[in-house]
Amino acid sequence: MPTIFAKIIRGEADADIVYQDDRVTCFRDISPVAPVHILIVPNKEIATVNDLTDEDQALAGYMILTAQRLAREAGIHESGYRLIINCNQDGGQVVDHLHMHLVGGRPMGPMVARKR
Ligand code: 5GP
Repeated sequence: MPTIFAKIIRGEADADIVYQDDRVTCFRDISPVAPVHILIVPNKEIATVNDLTDEDQALAGYMILTAQRLAREAGIHESGYRLIINCNQDGGQVVDHLHMHLVGGRPMGPMVARKR
């Protein structure tokens, strides 16, 4: 079964796409946690960080460079931002298609909530 992200990449599901090329598709998160919340998604169907291989080295770097450019375009490169990749259950990954969150536009607080 294709994920919702695969459908968005192929144009089969709606999303607010801010950038797309032959390697990545970037769109606004449907449930943003910050004024800027963009998902950087490789067009290649890679499920998790665990599934990246040496062949994907350039693609993984390209995801970061794309996030950097989108942060600059959103005007948050100086104030700062956070890049997040969740992996599997404990990492909080919900959609099984690799993606990087670009979040910013407000102070993002501690990296991880402390366990009480
Ligand atoms: P994860 O927890 O897997 O790292 O993040 C998945 C993200 O995808 C969540 O922040 C969620 O709000 C977002 N999301 C899930 N379904 C959709 C969708 O159909 N469209 C968009 N734009 N974002 C989605």
